[in-house]
Amino acid sequence: MGKQRVSYFYHPTCPLFYYGPSHPMKPHRLKLAHHLILAYHLYPKMDCYRCHPASASEMAAFHSEEYVNFLAKISPDNLRQYSGVLQKFNAGDTTDCPVFDGLYEFTQLYTGASIDGAIQLNQQQADICINWSGGLHHAKKSEASGFCYINDIVLAILELLKVHARVLYIDIDVHHGDGVEEAFYTTDRVMTFSLHKYGDFFPGTGHLQDMGAREGVGYSVNAPLQTGITDETYLEELFIPVMDKIIEVFNPGAIVLQCGADSLTGDRLGCFNLTTKGHAQAVRHVQSYNRPTLVLGGGGYTIRNVARCWAYETAVLLGEDIDNQIPFNDYYEYYAPDYELHLKPDPNMENANDSLGNIRTELLQQLCDLQGAPSVQMQEVPPPFRTVDDEEGSETTAVSKKQSSAELYDNVD
Ligand SMILES: [Zn+2]
Repeated sequence: MGKQRVSYFYHPTCPLFYYGPSHPMKPHRLKLAHHLILAYHLYPKMDCYRCHPASASEMAAFHSEEYVNFLAKISPDNLRQYSGVLQKFNAGDTTDCPVFDGLYEFTQLYTGASIDGAIQLNQQQADICINWSGGLHHAKKSEASGFCYINDIVLAILELLKVHARVLYIDIDVHHGDGVEEAFYTTDRVMTFSLHKYGDFFPGTGHLQDMGAREGVGYSVNAPLQTGITDETYLEELFIPVMDKIIEVFNPGAIVLQCGADSLTGDRLGCFNLTTKGHAQAVRHVQSYNRPTLVLGGGGYTIRNVARCWAYETAVLLGEDIDNQIPFNDYYEYYAPDYELHLKPDPNMENANDSLGNIRTELLQQLCDLQGAPSVQMQEVPPPFRTVDDEEGSETTAVSKKQSSAELYDNVD
């Protein structure tokens, strides 16, 4: 496999948003990851971009206008005026989706980067696009959910569908990718494959038998797992055999990979026992299919480990070997006491997954039952997503600004 062209999307404002002191979601983790990527000298090996902020009309390609308008207007200062609809949209202090300062701008930035990545893949300007700020897989059409407000993944997949007949979505976050599955539950043009903790765990969906509906029957693939799964069992008994079968029968034109880091060992909310190497091996395996791939972040709540994971996966995607010793950087003290990149599995954690063989067998059967790759008759390829009728009324074009390495250093804080 030749080297793939990698584009990296980072916006320096994104890590500055704050969900609140007791909230586990810390956008600051994006800055930690970015600084590790800089310290490992990975930035000259990829094209670096600052994304455009997604407009309301871009968001409305999936979300209801009423919901997008609500997100655009709400703030901690005017919460009381909106008390009637907070519950309807599942936002505010009584939910896990607080209304914080700059909430809408935050959604615009992480969403804009995912859309920009999809456009670059469509235009064949890159083989792999990385947006660690994206991957907010729980957001619904008219509802926030699980720390997610706008579903950048669904919007990016809609963009990819303008060019590609079939798009594969893969989700290795510890939580079920319910928002993405739901959006494409009745179509055979998007296959979703989610591996997640199932049973007494958020969001509660993702049963083995949830396989899609109508034209989409068989195109939702769910691997419900238990606590303590290890690299070897995750990869060898499930991920690799099922992925290989998916590629054979579905033959996607493009792939979106959600790399939620809450499936790592020691996560504040997660309960798996994967290491950085195991997590990244899943990424490497997806990359080996050599399809245009959008790589996104997602969950991840032990933030030093999120940074380790996504910096390492950036290196893996670039085909670079990086040292286990973490190089000095502005957040060096976060990596105490060992200052090493890689995580070790927790030897005291029991692997409660004793029926992986059965899950594998059922999923492989589900995939065999699909009658090969469906052929979608594509019309003339429409132009990429550009909007002229957004709220400002100005020509907002979905184009990212390319960053020189000097600018990247200026922008790191
Ligand atoms: Zn998660």
